[in-house]
Amino acid sequence: MNRWLALWGVPDLAEKSTIEWSRRMTSSLGRSHPQTRLVRVAAYLKQADPALVEEVLCHEMAHVAAYAIHGGRIRRPHGPEWRQLMQTAGYPPKVRMAVPPGLAPPKRKRTRRAYLHLCLLCKMTRLAGRAMRRWRCARCRRNGFDGKLRIAKLGS
Ligand SMILES: [Zn+2]
Ligand SMILES: [Zn+2]
Repeated sequence: MNRWLALWGVPDLAEKSTIEWSRRMTSSLGRSHPQTRLVRVAAYLKQADPALVEEVLCHEMAHVAAYAIHGGRIRRPHGPEWRQLMQTAGYPPKVRMAVPPGLAPPKRKRTRRAYLHLCLLCKMTRLAGRAMRRWRCARCRRNGFDGKLRIAKLGS
């Protein structure tokens, strides 16, 4: 990072900025708030190639640097000021960076399927997020049984 900060003529920008990992970030790799000099990098990138983390950092720090250098004159976040900084650092100015394959971001919200519905007769099981007391075993119903299911809550 210091290499391109020096190239940009803002060698002390890292010290003046807050750079942190974000666990909440799931759909993007990084984010920056140039006015407050805050940069967040998705925490799941800790498992990624360090070169990718470096590029994400460069992308976001270029936003911070562009603002530090040009201030409110910047018309578009990925405009010429930002692109020039990326090129100076030796990166192609990619606006959107792809999440590398095999490095899936964490699911935003995992549907909790905590209730197991078991047919004692045929051992059919189904999971659901809540206890579905009206569910019946269709197969056993077809065979003339009441198809009642036993509901068990799975571990917390
Ligand atoms: Zn950007
Ligand atoms: Zn059944």
